[in-house]
Amino acid sequence: MIEPMCSRRDAASVIFNLPDYHVIDAVDLPSGGRRVIVQADTVADGCPDCGVVSARVRAWCRQRVKDIPHAGSIEVIVVKPRLVCAEGACSRRTFTQATAELPVRARCTSRLRRGLLEAVIDHGRPVAAVAASFGVAWWTAQKTVNSAIDTLPDTDALHVTQLGVDEHRYRKVRWYRDPDTGGWSRVEPWMTTIVNTRCGQVLGVVDGRHSAAVEGWLTARSQVWRDRVTVVAIDPSGPLKVWLTSGFMPPV
Ligand SMILES: [Zn+2]
Repeated sequence: MIEPMCSRRDAASVIFNLPDYHVIDAVDLPSGGRRVIVQADTVADGCPDCGVVSARVRAWCRQRVKDIPHAGSIEVIVVKPRLVCAEGACSRRTFTQATAELPVRARCTSRLRRGLLEAVIDHGRPVAAVAASFGVAWWTAQKTVNSAIDTLPDTDALHVTQLGVDEHRYRKVRWYRDPDTGGWSRVEPWMTTIVNTRCGQVLGVVDGRHSAAVEGWLTARSQVWRDRVTVVAIDPSGPLKVWLTSGFMPPV
């Protein structure tokens, strides 16, 4: 007898392919979109306060979340268990299950966030355009980028020899009125990304597209770190300008 070597997921779950989740229902909506209802494969999680794992369900709740587009408009509903903390001494009575794809309080799947980041940071596309193509509000995309900036690596601990510096516009120009003076000020919609061109890793993101911002970022690095950089590529995805450096940084 020949046994299949692959997992036994149902067809809808295979097609939807949200890690650690399976599809429990899918319907066509009158508006033309589709609604997909999913649930985690396992009903257990650790209490966020004490860490004790519980599988005792107090209640079930439904939450609508954003996900990557699937051949058109789609609405994703997650059926989540509210679990009872198994530790009697813990002050938290219940908590909602969290997963890698849907962490605590997440309104977007992790794969959607990865897709947004890849489009904005790796491909340098404007945030507003990326948000539109993924069917989310621009502030959702911007918030995702902002949170990624908060988790940038410890740049000074990395051995970097080739830097890439590129600018991109992430929204339209905005004007804000100073409540004290009544004067209007223009807020630039540009940001500059600094990457390790050897592996594509984002090292830093600075406001605007002025050389002062990048120089400020470089100045914050140690002299030893700056001395290791031998190549700086400006606008790596466009007309490429390359400086070969020998212990100094070129103007950008
Ligand atoms: Zn607990």
